[in-house]
Amino acid sequence: MRKHNFGAGPGILPEYALKKTQEALLDFNGIGMGVMEISHRSKDFEAVLNKAKSLVIELLKVPDTHDILFLQGGASTQFAMEPMNYLNKKAAYIDQGAWSGKAIKEAKLFGEVNVIASSKDKNYSYQPKGYTIPTDCDYLHICSNETIHGTQVKTFPTSPIPMICDMSSDIFSRPVDVSKFDLIYAGAQKNMGPSGVTLVIIKKDSVGRTNRVKPTMMDYKTHLENNSLYNTPPVIAILVCMHVLEWLKSIGGVDAMQKINQQKYDLFYNEVDNNPMFTGTAAPEDRSPMNACFLLKDSALDEEFLAMTKAADIVGIKGHRSVGGFRASMYNALPLESVKVLVDVMKEFARKKG
Ligand SMILES: *Cc1c(COP(=O)(O)O)cnc(C)c1O
Repeated sequence: MRKHNFGAGPGILPEYALKKTQEALLDFNGIGMGVMEISHRSKDFEAVLNKAKSLVIELLKVPDTHDILFLQGGASTQFAMEPMNYLNKKAAYIDQGAWSGKAIKEAKLFGEVNVIASSKDKNYSYQPKGYTIPTDCDYLHICSNETIHGTQVKTFPTSPIPMICDMSSDIFSRPVDVSKFDLIYAGAQKNMGPSGVTLVIIKKDSVGRTNRVKPTMMDYKTHLENNSLYNTPPVIAILVCMHVLEWLKSIGGVDAMQKINQQKYDLFYNEVDNNPMFTGTAAPEDRSPMNACFLLKDSALDEEFLAMTKAADIVGIKGHRSVGGFRASMYNALPLESVKVLVDVMKEFARKKG
């Protein structure tokens, strides 16, 4: 039996995608070779790349102005590629938590960083709002979902300067207006596939904004001109993403997914808010449906609660060391049923200990 996997990343994947990938490992499309053993320039793999790309375009309604790239190095490499390609003098960043902090650190290597808003004063338990976006900056960096603190940007600002977004932990969980962004990136391993590939959605005419000398691999132009095939791409990771996106399409796409995610969110947070033993750490209006951070009011009971969840085949709910407590990551592939099991354990815990 598969566990109720609330892990924060790499996260749970749909069984459909795992089974389809399993088939492709030994004999892909009946060609007598596995998908990892063929040329990335073969027509069989090219079909995978193009299918994955067209599914991203279809599911996120990506306009013609933008293109899709599959890169390596994780979102963490994007933290550097972003300023390398877009920062001439000064960039605006919002300090929303651990991941935007890492993006800020990289940007400082390439120019001036103007941190225009921060939620550090309350340990990043809320999303900064009501800030003014300066027009003298090359771009605004924003993180759509701060995975570690469990907060999400509900409404993106209307930015007078190009906007760049790290959507690693909530891409494909809700519809997004891609046209608002010059660059979107997401490490695949939270919501769209395995680690090893990073999805990049780039506005085509935004390349070449800086003249700095860039290593070939760090230049978006290289990858745009070569359809992500400048060097050997992560073949297997892209294949898994393709299967995950096929699954997503089969259940009705991001609109349907958002409704299911909302059900999981409602079920879980209703319990946190009504169970006297627990409390949520994120500001209610900014709570993320992807990562729900919560605490036992009496932390001395933490181990006992963890043991009870373990007995119910729940894994991955220990909170990040910087926040403590617990975190239930409810990515797209996590069934509603798993949230029911967790909620039942919370109820049972309150009956026993309350
Ligand atoms: C996980 C995560 C990252 C880091 O991704 P890597 O692919 O491991 O580099 C960056 N940003 C956010 C929001 C994340 O959740």
